[in-house]
Amino acid sequence: MVDNAPVKTIQHDGLTIEGYSRAAVQSYWRLPELKLGFDLGAQPWSFMATETWFVTHGHLDHIAALPVYVARRRMMKMEPPVIYMPGELIEPMHQIMQLYTRLDRGRMPCELRAAEPGDEVELSRELVVTVSATKHTVPSLGYVVWDRRRKLKAEYRDLAGDQIRDLRLGGTEVSEEVRRPLVAYAGDTSPAGLDACPAMYEAKVLIAEMTFVSSDHRKEKIHKFGHMHLDDFVERRDRFKNELVIAAHLSTRYHVQTVERMVRRALPDMLDGRLMLWL
Ligand SMILES: [Zn+2]
Ligand SMILES: [Zn+2]
Repeated sequence: MVDNAPVKTIQHDGLTIEGYSRAAVQSYWRLPELKLGFDLGAQPWSFMATETWFVTHGHLDHIAALPVYVARRRMMKMEPPVIYMPGELIEPMHQIMQLYTRLDRGRMPCELRAAEPGDEVELSRELVVTVSATKHTVPSLGYVVWDRRRKLKAEYRDLAGDQIRDLRLGGTEVSEEVRRPLVAYAGDTSPAGLDACPAMYEAKVLIAEMTFVSSDHRKEKIHKFGHMHLDDFVERRDRFKNELVIAAHLSTRYHVQTVERMVRRALPDMLDGRLMLWL
């Protein structure tokens, strides 16, 4: 396999989370078992077979590789991918791809779909993605992937199989839909983007940005630019119900050791061991 872009990988309870994310460099994430990815700041060759993507916003470190990815899939004779993104991005992205087609003489087959807060995207019977508003300097969105099942309603759980069958045959709806948030991806946002979507705090895995950690970088200014600070995590420490919180998109101004030292000082228990720095 060609190794053209760094990818860090972890496993959590049957889910593989792969990606890379540093502010102003590039962000991209993939969940192979869910057959989807978030953001296209670059495109590792190994991510090419994933055909559904959710882009959070139009900053180049999150979207620059979209034409490259689309062209590669065409070249490899794969189906055109489906890429969701804030509606404002669709028209300019079509224009960008037309211009690349003039340079490259290759078609750019893909389906760009507009997403907006409140939308629900059904990927399969078991998987639904919901869209929420985030707060950045350009139109931006966050995404939550839900596991959706039908379960027997509580009032019928003590019944025998044939009783349930009879109810069902009699036209009674014995089951109900149960949803569980699996993975939340907040993208670039001030803490308002997390706070506006409770499922971000409930998802099994949360991928959030922690662009700044140093006390020299003032929080108010960071919020104005639509980013999060280590202090925002400290303030919200009791709200994270996630099994795993991935803090990513760290500024390149910091060395890895500096980030680790500052985060461990501010959160010595690393959210009971659930906080992971993606460095
Ligand atoms: Zn970014
Ligand atoms: Zn951004």
